[in-house]
Amino acid sequence: MKFSLSQADVYVPSGVDPAVALARTTHLCIGAHQDDVEIMAYHGIAACYGREDRWFTGVVVTNGAGSPRAGRYAKISDQEMQDIRRREQRRAARLGDYSIQLQLAHPSASVKSPESTAVCADLAQILAACRPEILYVHNPVDKHETHVAVFLRCLEAIRSLPRAQRPRQVLGCEVWRDLDWLPDSEKVALDVSERPQLARSLLGVFKSQIAAGKRYDLATLGRRAAHASFHTSHTTDATRALTFAMDLTILSRIDTMEVKTYVRELVRRFRDEVTARLDALGRGSARSRNVRPPT
Ligand SMILES: [Zn+2]
Repeated sequence: MKFSLSQADVYVPSGVDPAVALARTTHLCIGAHQDDVEIMAYHGIAACYGREDRWFTGVVVTNGAGSPRAGRYAKISDQEMQDIRRREQRRAARLGDYSIQLQLAHPSASVKSPESTAVCADLAQILAACRPEILYVHNPVDKHETHVAVFLRCLEAIRSLPRAQRPRQVLGCEVWRDLDWLPDSEKVALDVSERPQLARSLLGVFKSQIAAGKRYDLATLGRRAAHASFHTSHTTDATRALTFAMDLTILSRIDTMEVKTYVRELVRRFRDEVTARLDALGRGSARSRNVRPPT
């Protein structure tokens, strides 16, 4: 497989042919930066870990050039930082027993440009070769621009493929914004409590980010624990760690559906849920007058 940039990095921890490693993929994650895959798709990594019938593949779209740096990484050039982050991502792939790890090395600016076709072309090739059961990708309400752009390029890539080559399920995952606000009926709760030591180690690999003062490792594990406890108020915790996802499969099936329309509807339902509760409980409301609110 040939990617648009010569700096693209292909790494197969087990050493099999990359074409074989792609074809056996059942769980695929496409993330913007090194460490995004481990933050948002641990569900897929754990589902495939140590199995011969399921394989996880990680894709990092950008070159990771613009990351903040501090401590012993403070004086490191952009080029050196890219090398360090590439190596860290390879280490995570080895530790997590991934089928293959691809790092496409696109500058953030070209990912964000709707006119640039190279990112979409690379992603379409990967998706066609993997045909995964589950695709984990950034969700369209993430607050990091590059994450949203990666999602949009990914959706364009999916829509450019014949239906038989599209992923069976597309999940928009959490990195730079939690999804606890989604109505429960729209929320996919993914149990990520398996192998807690592996989960911790995978996040600890990215020392260049942690040293910059961003404790993504603690934040990610904390968010998973918080979701597990705060997901349902009236039942005991069913699991110790959860991540939430948005089921975006419908956008990969209906090519004419606009992302904006889909997201607005979710936001409207959130707004309605919050205002309906306030209406029901507020002074002068139907419930406060001991009258049953309309259902
Ligand atoms: Zn990121």
